[in-house]
Amino acid sequence: MSTPEDQFKNVISHAKEYGYIFQSSEIYDGLSAVYDYGQNGAELKKNIRDYWWRSMVQMHENIVGIDAAIFMHPTTWKASGHVDAFNDPLIDNKDSKKRYRADVLIEDHVKKIEEKIKKEVEKAAKRFEGFDEAMFRSTNARVLEYQAKADEIEARFKTALENNDLAEVKQIIVDLEIVCPISGSRNWTDVRQFNLMFSTSMGAVTDESNIIYLRPETAQGIFVNYLNVQKSGRMKIPFGIAQTGKAFRNEIVARQFIFRMREFEQMEMQFFVKPGTEMEWYETWKTRRMAWHKALGIDEKKYKFKDHIKVAHYANAAADIEFEFPFGFKELEGIHSRTDFDLRQHEQFSGKKLQYFDQDYTGPLNSELAKTQTPEDWKDNHSYVPYVVETSVGLDRLFLAILSTSLQEEKLEDGETRTLLSLPPQLAPIKVAIFPLMGKDGMPEKAMEIFNLLRFDHNVTYEEKDNIGKRYRRQDAIGTPYCITVDQQSLEDNTVTIRDRDTMKQERVSIDKIAAIVDEKVNMKYLLKKTS
Ligand code: ATP
Repeated sequence: MSTPEDQFKNVISHAKEYGYIFQSSEIYDGLSAVYDYGQNGAELKKNIRDYWWRSMVQMHENIVGIDAAIFMHPTTWKASGHVDAFNDPLIDNKDSKKRYRADVLIEDHVKKIEEKIKKEVEKAAKRFEGFDEAMFRSTNARVLEYQAKADEIEARFKTALENNDLAEVKQIIVDLEIVCPISGSRNWTDVRQFNLMFSTSMGAVTDESNIIYLRPETAQGIFVNYLNVQKSGRMKIPFGIAQTGKAFRNEIVARQFIFRMREFEQMEMQFFVKPGTEMEWYETWKTRRMAWHKALGIDEKKYKFKDHIKVAHYANAAADIEFEFPFGFKELEGIHSRTDFDLRQHEQFSGKKLQYFDQDYTGPLNSELAKTQTPEDWKDNHSYVPYVVETSVGLDRLFLAILSTSLQEEKLEDGETRTLLSLPPQLAPIKVAIFPLMGKDGMPEKAMEIFNLLRFDHNVTYEEKDNIGKRYRRQDAIGTPYCITVDQQSLEDNTVTIRDRDTMKQERVSIDKIAAIVDEKVNMKYLLKKTS
């Protein structure tokens, strides 16, 4: 049995070998935490993006999509809080000279305690028939002791963060006797805050006033366009604005392949709602987003929700959808109830109104005024600053989730193993590979006819090289759902064999049936139907 580390290494080398992902600028020894998508990776990524875009924009009559610029007016990032607060607490180990995120060191420690609890539960489950897990967790002395310890650490850490008390964060690391995984020592520096935004300067003159940032999230491009879209699209609340695009973060510890990169892509949707309805919409979007992920057909046990210990300065509720990557459960998507924070901030910094008029609404204009006003003050007010529920998923992380779970080594009946990339068929980079059994006797021409027939609808490929078994194996490793082979009989009766990637079964069918067979398996509309 290979270890999860080995499996992960396998994913990385497979991604390179089959044209999915390459290290950026590899001929110059690469650039840390930056990656390029190869010929198959670019297709898979595009298909995942399409699945998201179509399910958000095409399938919702009240969601529209935009494409805002990466560069934004620098005041945007003052208003959003990123200039002052988009920091990670970092700590260095003086012996290994390695840098860590202090919050990650503490969270990893808590995870280890949770692992111990899990082991106790598993042990007990094996021992007792009709095992009641909830009862066991609430009564077993050892589990309760572990749980109390984990809760205590989390509570202490939460308070330290709320008070921005970096000395206390360090003290927690010291008290928990956390060691550097490289040097094994506890020789830590103080904890410092580090801003994650990349900056550059615009125009020929480089001085303070020309500094602009590479956006660290796509969301702000949506907020600053809220009124443009609402007015030009005559949008009625509740409505959403979706966007996909690059974001940049100078991550302290960029690791785990494309899980944490310095340049990555986000798919975000901001849903504008009436104040007071945000919790309902927050729950709705949590459910919808989980269903969207699960429609891909990946093992459902690999997904779970995790509520945030500490919600960000702009939110009143937040949860992650976590996925079980080869290195454990980690955040895949965030769902946040962002209140009216962002629009209010942009109103304040720009001096422009970002409000919504609704004759049926009577209430405070925004959440700040609500704190001091009484109903008497707002009895004639029918406008409000909308509340926002956000769904935000990393395209690259989702790519990694799908790629890593799809890669399998399968034992065959004849004792051989085959490498199979069982991607959801609708997302596969190549939908059909078309082979002439031999490169002669009119078979290549017939195969090209089929290629020309299918390429209007799908990304298909044609291959003559190698024996047919090798060609099948190669397409299995790329994840191509169907292989079509043209043989001698095809020339006589216009039939071909079509081979299914997952079952390896071959069926002989008439060429005019192929388009329909392929469509049923790979057309994204069937995936979208599952989520609507
Ligand atoms: P993390 O806690 O992992 O740093 P985050 O909470 O800062 O993530 P958000 O700001 O909520 O992440 O961003 C939304 C999504 O963008 C995340 O769920 C993740 O999928 C993706 N994402 C964030 N940072 C990165 C990164 N450095 N590389 C790849 N994807 C990322």
